[in-house]
This record gives sequence, C-alpha cells and structure tokens, in this order.
Amino acid sequence: MSNKLLVVEDTRMFSRILKSRLEKNGYNVTLADSLAKAKEQVEFDPGRFFLAILDLNLPDAPGGEIVDYILENNIPSIVFTSQFSDDTRELMIHKRVVDYVAKDDPSSIDYVITLVSRLDMNRNTQVLVVDDSATARTMTRNLLQLQQYQVIEAVNGVQALEMLKQYPDIRIVLTDYMMPQMDGFELTKTIRQKYSRNEIAVIGISAHDGNNLSAKFMKNGASDFITKPFLVEEFNCRVNQNVELISHIHALQEAVIRDFLTGLHNRRYFFDLGEKLFGAAVRERAPLAVAMLDIDHFKRINDTYGHELGDVTLKHLAALLQKFYRDVEIIARTGGEEFCLLLTGMSRLALISFFEHLRKQIESMTIDTGGTCISITVSIGVCCELQESLDAMVAKADEHLYKAKGDGRNRVSLS
Ligand code: GH3
Ligand code: MG
Ligand code: MG
Repeated sequence: MSNKLLVVEDTRMFSRILKSRLEKNGYNVTLADSLAKAKEQVEFDPGRFFLAILDLNLPDAPGGEIVDYILENNIPSIVFTSQFSDDTRELMIHKRVVDYVAKDDPSSIDYVITLVSRLDMNRNTQVLVVDDSATARTMTRNLLQLQQYQVIEAVNGVQALEMLKQYPDIRIVLTDYMMPQMDGFELTKTIRQKYSRNEIAVIGISAHDGNNLSAKFMKNGASDFITKPFLVEEFNCRVNQNVELISHIHALQEAVIRDFLTGLHNRRYFFDLGEKLFGAAVRERAPLAVAMLDIDHFKRINDTYGHELGDVTLKHLAALLQKFYRDVEIIARTGGEEFCLLLTGMSRLALISFFEHLRKQIESMTIDTGGTCISITVSIGVCCELQESLDAMVAKADEHLYKAKGDGRNRVSLS
C-alpha cells in the first residue's frame, strides 16, 4: 500500500511542520506550493498518492481550484481552509472531500496528523453494510469509502451473518432495521451471541419513525444508533469512534499476549492456549509435542556486537520462526533468548525432520545489520510424547535442550 502523501500549501512554515511530522510517522511526503507545481507532481503518476492535503487558497488558484483538480485525479483529499463558513462546508461536503480543517485553529496540525493515520488504518478495516435498499447501501458505502474503509455489503440479516463468516476481520456492522428474512434487531441479537461489543461494533441506522427504534437497537446489543437524515460529520464521527474503541481494546488484548520486542506470543499465551490444546490432545489421544529452542552462546553476540544488535538478532530469528506458523500451533518467546513451540498431529519422525530443517535454516541465516553480518546457531530440545501435564512436557523439552547444549550445541535432542 502506498505511503505517499501530497501536500499542497504555500505557507512555508505550515508545509514544513506538516512534512516533518508526517515523515516522523513513516509517510513519504511530496510538497507543492502552487496549483502548477501540484499538477507537475500529479500528472507524472496520480496513482502513487494515497492522500492529498490541500490549501484552498493558493497564489495561482485563490478559489479552491486545487480541490477539483486533485479530486478529478481520484486522490482522496483533506482540505485546509482559513475562510471557514457554512458555505465552504456545504461546498466541501458536496465536492466529497474526506474532511476539512480550519487552519487558524492551533490544534489543526495535530488534527490532520491523527486524521492521516486513521485514514491509513481504515484502508485495512472492513465494514459490513446491511440494507435491503440498494440506494441506501450505495449512499452508506460511498461515505465509508471516502473514509478509506473496505466495504462489504449484505441485503439482509441472513446474508450479513454469512458475510461475517466469510470475512472474519469485519470489525463494524452498519445495519438497517426493516429488512426481509432477518431484520436489524434479530441480526444484532444473533451477532451478540457470538461477538462481544469489544470484538464487533453494531450500529443501527434507520429513519426516525417514532417507534423508539434506537432504544430497541440498543437493548438488542447495538453499540450505537444513527438516525436518518444525518450530517456527514456526525456519521463519520460515530463510525470512527466505534472503530477506534474496538482497535484500542484489540491493541490492549494483543499487548497482554505478545512479546514487545519480537511480536511473537509470550509465555502467558503459550500456557493459556497450550493448556487447551493439551487437553484436547489427551482426550483424542492425538500427538502433541513441545520444543524449547535456545540461541547458542548468545551472551557472546551481545558482548561482541552490543545489546542493540543482540535485539536485532532476536527479531530476525523471530521473523524466521514465524515462517513456520503453518506447521506450528504456538510460537512463543518464553525467555530472553529462549523460545517455546507447540506442535500437534506430528509423528516423531516428522518432528525429527521438521526440527532438523528449522535448525539448518537458522544456521544458514545471515543477519545483515548494516555492515556487520551476524549468524547464530540454536539448540533444540523436544518432548514428543504426551506427559501428565503441559508443565511436565515443557520440563522434558528443557531437559533435552540441556542435553543438546551438553552434546556440543547446534543440534536437536528428542525424547
Ligand atoms: P548457551 O549456549 O548456554 O545458551 O549460552 P548463552 O550465552 O546463550 O546463555 P546465557 O543464559 O548464559 O546468556 C543468555 C544471554 O542472553 C544473556 C543475556 O544478556 C542475553 N539476553 C537475554 N534477553 C535478551 C534481550 O532481550 N536482548 C538481548 N540483546 N540480549 C538478551
Ligand atoms: Mg543461549
Ligand atoms: Mg539461556
């Protein structure tokens, strides 16, 4: 996905601050200080910008001509304006800009920076729109797409539930009330049987009909309600707030089960999910293995290259381990330079070749840290048979890890 932004602004102080703040957030910023300069940039390859930030008042385009030009080239636009009036607002909504920001407000730069990262994230956020009216769906879809959301549609509750199965990443559902087969209340209730408010936000949307629809939606588990007709700003604000709430909760939940340095799962997750998988394996008498993997002489890496490059090494190893997620149920960083893996359904023979392959992959990996190339080896201990508990399996894998170390390192030892 593109990370390129176009900023068209003739006030140097303003464009410089924007550029430096956006670049700090990882964006690639192209500046233009007039309509003519912007044209030079856009004509060359309009598709490369994912967003434009535009000043309505430019030396060669004092009447907002830049907005028409950029929108004609299908680049979503945020507009900076100093002459803020109801008429300007009307015009901007009509022209379908993503958002407009009052320039004289001291917090406007912060607002734009937050807005850009939200739009960026929205590109990866799926929203389900449920309505039996094609016109209504199109209207809602257009508003959401302008905010860069990925939109999925359904014509009634039954189809909506199918879509939720098909697209498990949907975070937000916007639903009409009156629909054939399954109405909005029924849909909301059914969604809530499976997903909490922290997982999926359901927003009811309906025309005001004096039937206390909003109260009924909320009682059935909806997160919010929007009455038609609404202001575009109100719609955006409600949708965004619900998406933000869910992403914050998701980020918190992830932080609890992930290792900060490598992004792999942590010890807590290993035992939480591991106990469940262990229980299932015991019930079904199915194969389950636990492996402990430890970097050989990692202290030397730190002593030779410094702790920072030691961290880089850990990250590279983690990235390599993640490539094996297809064969492994859990990959966790359980200690400093120690990793714990859980595998199911594999015979001892399959485990031997899997871990030998993994060991060799790690041995042949070179970590280029800008000048210095680091390579490492690991020792791996594997417990291949079910023991009386998961703890006992980890202990057994650990015994074999120490055996592998004692036998000369860079090897696999299986129970
Ligand atoms: P062995 O082959 O016996 O495992 O030797 P080793 O040096 O790898 O083992 P030891 O347990 O003696 O030392 C582990 C080292 O790992 C010591 C510690 O400084 C380093 N370490 C632990 N966590 C981190 C980390 O998060 N970052 C870095 N850079 N180093 C770490
Ligand atoms: Mg070690
Ligand atoms: Mg160690």
